[in-house]
Amino acid sequence: MSYNIAVIKGDGIGPEVAGQALRVLDAAGAKYGHTFCYTEVLMGGCAIDQTGAPLPDETVRVCKASDAVLLGAVGGPKWDSLPGGSRPEKGLLGIRAALGLYANLRPAVLHGALADACPLKPEISGGGFDMLFVRELSGGIYFGERGRANDSAFDTEIYSVREIERVGRAAFELALKRRKRLCSVDKANVLESSRLWREVMRGLSQHYPDVEYRDMLVDNAAMQLIRDPRQFDVIVTSNMFGDILTDEAGMLTGSIGMLPSASLGDGKPGLYEPVHGSAPDIAGLDRANPIASILSAAMLLRLSLGLEPEAAAVENAVLKTLADGFRTPDLHSPGCTPVGTSQMGAEIAARV
Ligand code: NAD
Repeated sequence: MSYNIAVIKGDGIGPEVAGQALRVLDAAGAKYGHTFCYTEVLMGGCAIDQTGAPLPDETVRVCKASDAVLLGAVGGPKWDSLPGGSRPEKGLLGIRAALGLYANLRPAVLHGALADACPLKPEISGGGFDMLFVRELSGGIYFGERGRANDSAFDTEIYSVREIERVGRAAFELALKRRKRLCSVDKANVLESSRLWREVMRGLSQHYPDVEYRDMLVDNAAMQLIRDPRQFDVIVTSNMFGDILTDEAGMLTGSIGMLPSASLGDGKPGLYEPVHGSAPDIAGLDRANPIASILSAAMLLRLSLGLEPEAAAVENAVLKTLADGFRTPDLHSPGCTPVGTSQMGAEIAARV
């Protein structure tokens, strides 16, 4: 089969890590007999430099016509002094809106080979865990009315039944394909929007009898994540709570260079990107860990192209490469083999 993938390499380490993800995708294509046709498009700082806009119309057009979008990272100090509306990050918000993406999937997995990178005691991390966060991406307090009056300021959290239902359904469906456990996180003891969130999630749970459902207050969830992360399978939550909890969970896995993400809407295409930014401090030095980008490509294979064995082959190749002792500088520990971005990509591609 042939698939069209829009590629936004972006700024800083974006082109370096996305380049290794393409190398690994090609290895999977060669092994399983697929052709991946890449169309590179501009977004972020490089788009500002070349076109004057962080998200050119052509980029939106190509992305919408593709089966999936792979993104490196955007932004950097060069563009920091631009006004908010024309900064690189505006491209990110713009492409999410243009593609109607409302569910942000962030796995937080502690691999056995990296168990000592986890800040928790070994008896708590238990040699590894595997959680999947589903964060609502297009609503909530980040998009509600805000303002200032005299010496006060306000932000508004608004969620509609439709917004909660669609992300909730996505989370239940994902739980069905995993260990069939879903925890919905809210603040229903205080917030009215959370009370609606909980009502809708409980209603949905009636339609998924095979999924073991529970809800949890966000303050408790923050604590449970470090008390016993292995209790969680899929966690669904609002935009702001998800923003905070996924960073907490990310820290438990060792390096930001290991964390992939997917953003999905109804139908195609999904957007796949590492959780990290453009890391200007290490850009161009062959020091960036490409694994977050490579694991994002694995999510792309699974979730947008439906290629499960291919996705698993990429994930297993990552695990094998780590087990064989290869480490980029962010993961380095005594006795391991230090490698740069490019060699890490090559080792993983070879193991696919
Ligand atoms: P960052 O994630 O780029 O970097 C934070 C720290 O983590 C740095 O020390 C960096 O060297 C390190 N790091 C990040 N990715 C790494 C990797 N793959 N391998 C090894 N080390 C890695 O966050 P920041 O410094 O706050 O932001 C830098 C720029 O990236 C800013 O312009 C910011 O707006 C942008 N940004 C973009 C995205 C995105 O494109 N989705 C996300 C976050 C930040």
